[in-house]
Amino acid sequence: MRVLLVADIHANLTALDAVIADAGPVDAVWCLGDTVGYGPRPNECSDWVAANASITVLGNHDAACLGRVDITEFNPAAQAATRWTAGNLSARTREWLASLPFQVVEGDLTLVHGSPRDPVWEYLLDAASANENFAYFDTRVCLVGHTHVPAVFARTRDGRGAVARPARADTAFELTARRCIVNPGSVGQPRDGDPRAAYAILDTAAGSLTPRRCDYDIAETQRQMAEAELPPVLSARLAYGL
Ligand code: ZN
Repeated sequence: MRVLLVADIHANLTALDAVIADAGPVDAVWCLGDTVGYGPRPNECSDWVAANASITVLGNHDAACLGRVDITEFNPAAQAATRWTAGNLSARTREWLASLPFQVVEGDLTLVHGSPRDPVWEYLLDAASANENFAYFDTRVCLVGHTHVPAVFARTRDGRGAVARPARADTAFELTARRCIVNPGSVGQPRDGDPRAAYAILDTAAGSLTPRRCDYDIAETQRQMAEAELPPVLSARLAYGL
């Protein structure tokens, strides 16, 4: 089965459309959360994910836009975007987001937004924090989002540590050799210095995962954000991928 893996779409419909076209035919879509927040098209992105993804988990921004979590720890721009999103969600989007689980186990894979230890809030940015999280899931592989940085953390051979492996675009890596935690990066707001949309293709038969990047019309998303009067700083960062 060829699975399109998306995370952190963040209401960036232009980026999502580019990813869908770039991915080509797939057998399934799985979404690792934060479908909304930051961007200008929360309902359109949610409608597509709700209709096409067989698995979707809840992200921290999704929860924030539902009023389920305290947003005082968000920076002012993120707070403003959360308030805008909360005020612009359709009843259908709100109901769909409210139905999403924090974690899903599918065969040999666990899917969460942040980390298996703390599915909503923890950021897995380095091998040390990834290492601590191997104790919190039972499957071979855990798929995460949240950091907006493509990453692979693999268990060391002795099963006691973790190492960061390169998550190079268009380079498939085996998911079967070691336990690992994988982040496909962000569709709608990449933060690794590469402004292109990030996603991954999972091949369940081959047991491999391929990180991918694709260009999208960043200026169009920025135009939509200006029209919605979303904070300019959130719009500007899209051009830099930071
Ligand atoms: Zn996010």
